[in-house]
Amino acid sequence: MELHALTIHELQDKLRSGETTAADVLASVYDRIAAVDDKVHAYITLTKEAAELQAAAADAAIRRGEMGELTGVPIALKDIFCTRGVPTTCGSRILADFIPPYDATVVGKLRAAGAVFAGKANMDEFAMGSSTETSYFGVTRNPWDLDRIPGGSSGGSAAAVAADECIASLGSDTGGSIRQPAALCGVVGMKPTYGRVSRFGLVAFASSLDQIGPFTKDVEDCAILMNVIAGYDPRESTSVDIEVPDYRSFLDRGVAGLRVGIPKEYFIAGIDPEIRTAVETAIGVLEKGGARLVEISLPHTEYCLAVYYIVAPAEASSNLARYDGVKYGFRSPEGRDLLDMYKHSRSAGFGDEVKRRIIIGTYVLSSGYYDAYYKKASQVRALIRRDFDQAFAQCDVIATPTSPTAAFRIGERTDDPMQMYLSDILTISANLAGIPGISVPCGFTGDGLPVGLQFLAGHFQEGLLIQAGAAYETLAATRSLIARYKREKMSLS
Ligand code: GLN
Repeated sequence: MELHALTIHELQDKLRSGETTAADVLASVYDRIAAVDDKVHAYITLTKEAAELQAAAADAAIRRGEMGELTGVPIALKDIFCTRGVPTTCGSRILADFIPPYDATVVGKLRAAGAVFAGKANMDEFAMGSSTETSYFGVTRNPWDLDRIPGGSSGGSAAAVAADECIASLGSDTGGSIRQPAALCGVVGMKPTYGRVSRFGLVAFASSLDQIGPFTKDVEDCAILMNVIAGYDPRESTSVDIEVPDYRSFLDRGVAGLRVGIPKEYFIAGIDPEIRTAVETAIGVLEKGGARLVEISLPHTEYCLAVYYIVAPAEASSNLARYDGVKYGFRSPEGRDLLDMYKHSRSAGFGDEVKRRIIIGTYVLSSGYYDAYYKKASQVRALIRRDFDQAFAQCDVIATPTSPTAAFRIGERTDDPMQMYLSDILTISANLAGIPGISVPCGFTGDGLPVGLQFLAGHFQEGLLIQAGAAYETLAATRSLIARYKREKMSLS
């Protein structure tokens, strides 16, 4: 297999043994990018020169026998992470020229582990969207079918991994933005517990919901990246000081005796029948592997979308107030006075979806409406969280579909925000409750589009997600299924 198609752990074996070099791996990834990225458009910025220096440093470290967790591994970063000296656009015109003077904590951690940064991946503007169509820098296409979206908002990060334009990547997830694109692109994506990974240097969308997590080709790589990025950060006040386990130690535990909760509210009308069948088949595989299925109920599920679309825009409207044409990024040359300059800069700097969120958020926070909307939503959010606490008294993990449908066509939902918002109906609850979730590939539709299986677990139980995900991956032999589909159905070059 070509180097760019390998996983982190496969590459590390080859690097350690001297069978290949970090420079060769990077060259292979850049050849792949050159061959396919004009079709996929996973990247906003490529950082080839800096990456070559990082790869040379990695090779020198390997020669000295100093191999870190990610030495020589090309990683893509969603363009929402501050990267010192490298543009960080957040998919927006308003930050098109923004070059941060510092690294996000996760970026620093990857650097310290020896990673090589291939580039900055495309995303929906300010991470608002489910299709990567709201990016100021153009749409990303799904490598499995170039007429379709890759999911969003971390669509570039997911597509880059699926198309082998990097070995793994990082994204962020506020309502599903890691898990949903992972499902739609046929890769593994994890949203950790709120507080597990530092958000320092992550451009804020909705601060009580945002989390950073990995996209990988298999669950073992997910564990490797989690080992690197998880942990307390004194610079981030919501990061939690709880010991980080070795996530790799969960890989081989299997599912025998694991109690898998099946929430009846997640297998409703509106889930595409093919998705439902694929996920039910996957759950059958778990049961055969020794898992114990438990029917559970999450009674406040029907309120999740409504609560999210109050809380997230409310927080976004206040977070995005800082983009005023003065402190950061784009400033309109028009404007007769200060207020007028603000108005022109924000009008021209933000796209329609971001403006829609700012308007909703400002409305639900305004005096007279605050109690009816934001306060009420916060109360219902507590009930949603309680649903999960009660469910996890009966089961270890919960299994659901990740997305109600497979990848939809480009343009299909852009004129109908409600249709777009429904893409995240199965992922949003984890963000509202602060719990971790993972999406692992579980087969394909008749059209050859990937389907994702979501596992959810209690706070700080990412290990259980790795355990369940890895066990499923082995039982269902998904790695070889994907490799076969890739050979037969993915025609990128
Ligand atoms: N699609 C959801 C939204 O538009 C979630 C996005 C995300 O997780 N960043 O808000």
